[in-house]
Amino acid sequence: MFGGNTSCLEVRTADGRCFVFDAGTGIRALGDRMAHDPGSGDVDLFLSHFHWDHIQGLPFFAPLYAAENTVRIHAARQGDVDVETLLRAQMGPVYFPVPYDSLEARMTFEPLTGSAWRHDGVEVAWYRTRHPADTYGFRIRSGGVSVAYFPDNELEGGRYEVDGPGWRSGLEAFLEGVDLLFHDATFTDEEYPSRTGWGHSTFVQAIELAERASVKRLAFFHHAPSRTDGELAGIVAEMRGELARRGSELEVEAATEGRELEIRGG
Ligand SMILES: [Zn+2]
Ligand SMILES: [Zn+2]
Repeated sequence: MFGGNTSCLEVRTADGRCFVFDAGTGIRALGDRMAHDPGSGDVDLFLSHFHWDHIQGLPFFAPLYAAENTVRIHAARQGDVDVETLLRAQMGPVYFPVPYDSLEARMTFEPLTGSAWRHDGVEVAWYRTRHPADTYGFRIRSGGVSVAYFPDNELEGGRYEVDGPGWRSGLEAFLEGVDLLFHDATFTDEEYPSRTGWGHSTFVQAIELAERASVKRLAFFHHAPSRTDGELAGIVAEMRGELARRGSELEVEAATEGRELEIRGG
């Protein structure tokens, strides 16, 4: 029902431009669809970080194998290692049979410099998250609407390089009023204590953040691999019940593979 592929979110602007966030296994189906849609192979791909579940679909992304396509990859280098070297390594012969150099699409690599990327009325901004490795969440704005994507972010426990007095308030300001937020909600309150420091949040923590930032709609993201559809549906129902009791206006749902959500301005 909710799907089991790893992280990948496609965002289309009103004029049809394609932005993709992360290249988990979900990007394979997206690429197959694009391969049947001539002229669609111009993509800006933003990677939150290089943990397996966020890049493992990239070698299966069909648009990379056609010379007429352009894929601009926006991501942060990790320590001394640049983005192309990281992606080339995952297609080394020990890991993958097709060599990186046989990818025919025009690929460019754009580091996350400054705090945002702007092009033709679209802004994509980033904010460093609390997660092992140099990891970012993103916010895309276009035509007066905004969507934020924070797949891997431990809101409370653990210790991270970014920790300091301004991190949490900065995050709330970054997310202020977004129309739709996809946020890490990997664990329940019962599961979390034995998993602090793993880099992930709970459903309740994601809701608290969304409410503090006056987010309109929250999609729980990065479902625990062992979570069944029934469990997830039960958790969503429980969270909705709790929000209704408190009179909260926040809408919540579990991110669902293949589901299209339309966001209108005003
Ligand atoms: Zn991660
Ligand atoms: Zn992850």
